[in-house]
Amino acid sequence: MIYNDLENKTVLVTGASRGIGKAICEALAKQKAHVVFNYRGDEQKANELKEHFASMGASKVSAVQFDINDYDAMKSNLDAFVKENGPISGLVNNAGISKDQLCLRVKPDDIQNILDTNLKSAMVLTNHLTRQFLKAKDVSIVNMSSVVGLMGNTAQTVYAASKAGMIGYTKSYAKELASRKFRSNAVCPGFIATEMTEGLEEKAKEAYMQAIPLGDYGSTEDVANVTLFLLSNASKYITGETIKVDGGLYI
Ligand code: NDP
Repeated sequence: MIYNDLENKTVLVTGASRGIGKAICEALAKQKAHVVFNYRGDEQKANELKEHFASMGASKVSAVQFDINDYDAMKSNLDAFVKENGPISGLVNNAGISKDQLCLRVKPDDIQNILDTNLKSAMVLTNHLTRQFLKAKDVSIVNMSSVVGLMGNTAQTVYAASKAGMIGYTKSYAKELASRKFRSNAVCPGFIATEMTEGLEEKAKEAYMQAIPLGDYGSTEDVANVTLFLLSNASKYITGETIKVDGGLYI
């Protein structure tokens, strides 16, 4: 699928070093977008990713250094990027972490870390970019939530809370900024084969497989396809929506 309006569109994707974020950048590169991604500090890896996305067709590739929990670095490095390149008009809040544990074992620091990384950082980043969105065209934000944020899951109380929070933020932002024609939507992947899910116990993986009506795990490309649609004008009348990419896991 070619979305002509994504050509040269400047799109920031967080957490693009691997997994779903990397697949989204690859898909954007194929649409000839200006791919912007953040990296935490590994210059060599960032340069390899830049070359990789450029080789896939990106009109331009930029790497901006910041840890999403380091708000000062995030804001100043993004401000410098916008000053040099003009406004960002697409944003994918994808970076995230998970730590499965029964609620009796959850430490306050785990709660802080997961909520900060999965939810607070996305809100701080989006709110910060909102002023410069006023100078951009066709603003579209995609927030990576999870089916777990909709249905809950054993041993994922904190993760589920962070992902449910993402949906509340997505809908509220959509309402608040609709008068500016900014759109904000959430994607809820089910079980997608990445490093995040690789670490799960075999028993848990088998249970997922049994519970997925379409009978297979999802791929990172499945999530990237929906994300591209939401970033493009093909979805111009869709905002505040939550789209599951889960093979029917949560019907
Ligand atoms: P991965 O673990 O494969 O990748 C996570 C990405 O987030 C990495 O690029 C990582 O960067 C980045 N990241 C984590 N913490 C930070 C931080 N503090 N600052 C900057 N970057 C950070 O995850 P997935 O690709 O599987 O998941 C991507 C998103 O999709 C997450 O939000 C996840 O919750 C969600 N999701 C995934 C599902 C799945 O089945 N895989 C299901 C539902 C939702 P680095 O390389 O520097 O660590």
